[in-house]
Amino acid sequence: RNLFGERLNSSGLNLADPEQLESLQQDLDALAAKHWTAMPLINGSPCSGKERLIVNPYDNRLIVGSVIFAEPEVIEEALSGASEAFADWRLCPVAKRAGCLKQAADLLEEHRLELVSLCVREGGRTIKDALAEVREAVDFCRYYAQSALDLFGEPIRLPGPTGEENLLYHYGRGVYVCISPWNFPIAIFIGQIAAALAAGNTVIAKPASQTALTAMRCIRLLHQAGIPESVLQFMPVSGSVFGQHLLPDPRVAGVVFTGSTATAQSINLQLARHHQTIVPLIAETGGQNAMIADSSALLEQLVQDAVTSAFNSAGQRCSALRVLFVQEDIADKTIAMLIGAMQELNVGNPGVYQTDIGPIIDHAALSPLAAHLEAMQNQAQPLYQLPLSDGLEHGGFFPPSLIELRSLSQLNREVFGPVLHLIRYRESELDQVISAINATGYGLTLGIHSRIGTFVNTIRQNVKVGNIYVNRNMIGAVVGVQPFGGMGLSGTGPKAGGPDYLRRFVIEQTVTTNT
Ligand code: GLU
Repeated sequence: RNLFGERLNSSGLNLADPEQLESLQQDLDALAAKHWTAMPLINGSPCSGKERLIVNPYDNRLIVGSVIFAEPEVIEEALSGASEAFADWRLCPVAKRAGCLKQAADLLEEHRLELVSLCVREGGRTIKDALAEVREAVDFCRYYAQSALDLFGEPIRLPGPTGEENLLYHYGRGVYVCISPWNFPIAIFIGQIAAALAAGNTVIAKPASQTALTAMRCIRLLHQAGIPESVLQFMPVSGSVFGQHLLPDPRVAGVVFTGSTATAQSINLQLARHHQTIVPLIAETGGQNAMIADSSALLEQLVQDAVTSAFNSAGQRCSALRVLFVQEDIADKTIAMLIGAMQELNVGNPGVYQTDIGPIIDHAALSPLAAHLEAMQNQAQPLYQLPLSDGLEHGGFFPPSLIELRSLSQLNREVFGPVLHLIRYRESELDQVISAINATGYGLTLGIHSRIGTFVNTIRQNVKVGNIYVNRNMIGAVVGVQPFGGMGLSGTGPKAGGPDYLRRFVIEQTVTTNT
């Protein structure tokens, strides 16, 4: 039996067929002027309030829709709704919960176009990225549905002496708060919710404020799939109202968060300060991800994989490559080929299929990138910057850039954008390279390019990193195939899309009966 029960990973479109591609582009163009709205949904009822406009990051003159953020009293209603609903949902048969998620997967696939359109217009994702996101969301629903059935479908019968029965039961913990990022407004948003629900929790879903419209469409589909409206509450809300009124509430039983390391640390602190019980936090955070290439690497493959890993999604992935370590003998040639490959990248309107790199999500994300480039002018050696074409001045675009550093210590924080750093090393310095990567404290993804087994094994055994990719790119982990998540400053684990993820969302109860 495959990992997803009766079906395999989600199906895609065959866009090598020009007719299918053209019809996709036409369908997306037809949705390009639609105005979307989002607001808190409390037990399914939409809340009213002050509307804020959401603009397209590619061209901030284009309005995508409007969103209403929750006021404190709305939070109270959501909390009481979700905690009352928990009484029934925790006892709801696992098969029924799993059935809702499988139905949700089918609905997500059916509504793929709308979701892609929203994700492109609101999140600045390219069409290719957005299509992949819908597939990942579908995979999460099916995988966690199957996982819940396998892990919690029946109580586990344990040994005991004659006359004694021992059973281990699993239940949801209560109200889970799911806090998702703007860089994966469909996949990570749905993945967190699907896991919490499959394990028997009720959910308050807080979308990233930049991508609340996409999130709202997903929530509607989850409700349509049969997940009760009181079990899944939708809560676009400002960070400050959220931090003050939702996190400290004793009805919060668990938190799952994807975003920056600093925000995860502050959530952890708040939970510890305000709660008497120890509230579990699952955090998936940033990275200072490296790729190490030795002189046996196949250069064409290395360059293609480095460019994909660093610049895809405009570098706005926590898995993205930030620092490429290249053995000295091949460094000059690699640099020349990297620049050649960068010149082939199409930067521009994410709503056009041929675009490889879209905009940066907003001004707040753009300005640290500009500041970083400025600082690097003196401290490092800028090697190349792809000139931006005309017509992008109304969006937050950042030119894909290549910078040579002397050492990794020159990077003191994650640079969340299309900036690739390169460091040369000598063959005798591999140990120092590994120590420098471990010394960042992050441990999310790592790439290795080499055809020498001992080189690969030395790195693999000594590096403290959650996902290692050998002789390929290092982004786009597939659900059920490459369980994803880091260690150290990169997160708490367990890995999303992996066999142990759901276990963190449940409590266990042992029942011993004298028969
Ligand atoms: N899972 C994604 C990947 O493998 C990255 C998720 C993130 O950026 O938060 O590329």
